Amino acid sequence: MKKKNKKLIDKKGLRMDGRKPDELRSVKLEVGILPNADGSAYIEMGKNKILAAVYGPKEMHPKHLARSDRMVLRCRYHMAPFSVQERKSPAPSRREVEISKVIRDSLVPAIFVENYPRTGIDLFIEVLQADGGTRCAGITAAALAIAEAGIPMRDLVVACAAGKVDETIVLDLMDTEDKVGSADVPVALMPNLNAITLLQMDGILNPDEFEEALNLALKGCKKIYEMQREALKTKYVNLKEVEEQ
Ligand code: ADP
Repeated sequence: MKKKNKKLIDKKGLRMDGRKPDELRSVKLEVGILPNADGSAYIEMGKNKILAAVYGPKEMHPKHLARSDRMVLRCRYHMAPFSVQERKSPAPSRREVEISKVIRDSLVPAIFVENYPRTGIDLFIEVLQADGGTRCAGITAAALAIAEAGIPMRDLVVACAAGKVDETIVLDLMDTEDKVGSADVPVALMPNLNAITLLQMDGILNPDEFEEALNLALKGCKKIYEMQREALKTKYVNLKEVEEQ
């Protein structure tokens, strides 16, 4: 449930961290930072700091989980005990189990799973520091890690949330806005196929507000997608330069 009645937008229309309603937090993306993983990526989105690592495709273990017609994507979203102000138990919470599932479901449509029967890939998303919107930031980093692992994809997946605080629709909510605001709508998008792979809503919006929030989240996704492409290009330009030396 959302708590209301704390001022989140000042008289100038700016948010607590000085952002305009339609402004993203600063985003930093890096690809290929864990040499022992098949693919990896790191994202900073505002104060969020998240690592994504992929292993596979490899033979599925335990074998009874293998599917004869496709690859299985296993996903573990986990928040480190030190990722929030009060120590979080390292054991997986119900929230983490649910987020692991929605992240997996948002990524599977982008992967040619049918080309790799009986195999599995493991995706680990480790939240080192959390400040609202970690599922979205985790999806954005995970798609890069899967791409870096060389797993054929139909498209990248990029995610961003929009929501409502103080009667205003805002983009990319941080933790306080998420908790005190009245609604949060996380969205994941395959930007070239223009297909939404995740759409959730926590809180209450009327149909017009929902449409505005969805459109704003999609705009945010498209901006982050450009950064995703840059991060991938940077990784491969750097590799090419090393090869040429
Ligand atoms: P998301 O991170 O995708 O927005 P939620 O809406 O469930 O997912 O969580 C919002 C934020 O609440 C998180 O990003 C994090 O900053 C904070 N949070 C989540 N779990 C805890 C926890 N156990 N202790 C303190 N803060 C938490």
